[in-house]
Amino acid sequence: MNQPFQQPRVLVQHDPAGSPVPLVFDSPHSGIDYPADFGCVTPMAILRTGEDTHIDDLFGTAPERGATLIAALFPRSYIDVNRDELDIDPTLLAGPWPCELRPGEKTRLGMGLIRRLAQPDMPMYDRKLTVAEIQARIDTYYRPYHATLKAALDRTYQRFGAVWHLDCHSMGSVGSTMTSDGAKRRPDFVLGDRDGTTCGAEFTSTIFEWLKARGYQVTINDPYKGVELVRRYSNPSARRHSLQIELNRALYMDEKTREPNAGYARLKGEMTALIDHLAGWVRGQMG
Ligand SMILES: [Zn+2]
Repeated sequence: MNQPFQQPRVLVQHDPAGSPVPLVFDSPHSGIDYPADFGCVTPMAILRTGEDTHIDDLFGTAPERGATLIAALFPRSYIDVNRDELDIDPTLLAGPWPCELRPGEKTRLGMGLIRRLAQPDMPMYDRKLTVAEIQARIDTYYRPYHATLKAALDRTYQRFGAVWHLDCHSMGSVGSTMTSDGAKRRPDFVLGDRDGTTCGAEFTSTIFEWLKARGYQVTINDPYKGVELVRRYSNPSARRHSLQIELNRALYMDEKTREPNAGYARLKGEMTALIDHLAGWVRGQMG
C-alpha cells in the first residue's frame, strides 16, 4: 500500500494502491484530534457525539480497490467542512465579520460552520469567539481540506473524464430535536443527492439497490439530503457525481463508549464489498 499523504492534524490522503478507478471517498467528520485552542465548555463525552468515529476505517479498503480516500483528522465540532464557509452564526462573534455572512438552516439549528450548540439547550461556548480565531480555523483546517478534496476530484476527472465521489458519514441511531427528523429510529443507511441534483440517478440507485439486496433498510434524501461537500464540486451533466452516504452507528459501534461493537467486522466487510461493486460499476460506466 502507498504511504498516505499527511497534513499533520488536518487530513490524511490515501491515493489508489490498486489499478485506479474514478472513485473518490471522503470522510470529513471522523477526526478525533481535538485542537488545544478549541476553548469550548462542552464535556468531551458530549463533544464526541458529533464525530463520525470509525467512518474512515470502515471505508479504509477503498485505496487498495483503486479509489482515493481523504479523511479529516480534526473534529467537526471545531469547524465543519460540510458547511458553506459563510454559514456562521453572528451571535457567536465578538466582533463584526469582514464581509456579509450567509447563516442558513444549519446555523438556525445551532450547527453551522462553527457550532453554537453541542446538544439541544447545551451551548458550546461560554464566551464569544474572535473573528481572528474563526479565520484561523478556516485557513488552517477548512480550506486545506477543501483544496485537497477538490484537487483529488479534479485529478481523477482529468484522468478519466468522469468522477464519482462518495461523501461518507454516520448518524446516531435515533434523531434529536436538533435534527430535522426528531427523536425517531433511523434507517440503516441514508443516501443524499440533494433531491437528485448532485449525481446521476443511476449512482444513487446502484448503491440503494445493492444495500437493499443485502437486507438493509435504506432511504434517499430522508432525513439527510447531503450538504456542502456533495453540493460544491458536483456537476452531473459534466460527469462529476457526488453522493452522501450516512451509516447508522448502531450497526458498528456502541454509541455510549464509541467502541466498535460485534457488528463492526461484518459491516467493514460489507463496505469493502460495496467498494468492489462500485469499482466494477464505474468501470462499466466508462465503457
Ligand atoms: Zn458527518
